[in-house]
Amino acid sequence: MALYRDHGIVLRTHKLGESDRIVTFATERHGKVRAVAKGIRKTKSKFGARLEPTTHVALQLYEGRELDIVTQAEVVDHFRAIREDLDRLTSAITMLETVDQMGLEREPNPDLYRMLLGALRTLATDHSALVVAGFHWKVLALEGFRPNVEGCVVCDEPDGLVAFDPIEGGLLCGEHRRGTRMSPEAVELLQQILGGRLAQALRAPASPATHEVDHLATRVVEHHLERRLRSVGLLD
Ligand SMILES: [Zn+2]
Repeated sequence: MALYRDHGIVLRTHKLGESDRIVTFATERHGKVRAVAKGIRKTKSKFGARLEPTTHVALQLYEGRELDIVTQAEVVDHFRAIREDLDRLTSAITMLETVDQMGLEREPNPDLYRMLLGALRTLATDHSALVVAGFHWKVLALEGFRPNVEGCVVCDEPDGLVAFDPIEGGLLCGEHRRGTRMSPEAVELLQQILGGRLAQALRAPASPATHEVDHLATRVVEHHLERRLRSVGLLD
């Protein structure tokens, strides 16, 4: 068995047997890794509370045939500000779930890892209404989905955009509208996020428009994942 080191973020854990847990990590260099943390549920476990969702850890693992084994875990960041605030934790869990679904086991995806780490750091410092949406749109871009938001995808009209359709691949004008209806404020936020002005969008206070953009991003991610599962024949 080979021993290796990497940095990871805990995506989720579940119980295994009497005292162990299987921990799923998004790692920097090895993609998604599922590994057993032995004895972690015993009161005197050497892992303590180091392997809980959102925690950023420096790891040493043994490579196994199916599951690896965690031999060391040192906390880099607990993201306490996230863990102690239910709203932030809910936002974080949404992003962890997306990475869990997008990431492939043992297929390195350093960009996805860095995006998640960056989004958690943003979430820990200031809880913007659009952290999760900004993260989701970036992940979609990484997956090759870059919607057109400068004009209607059918006629190129830059004004009076009123809807978004993931199948058409972007915003639509009143004449060609289909998909999800969007307010002018939400259209503006979407243009900021996808037009390289994410920092500006992150300053927007929570509003019905930020909610719209957040909701839309989640739906587009779901649409994307469903299509990906279909393409490999796992749904139908
Ligand atoms: Zn049009």
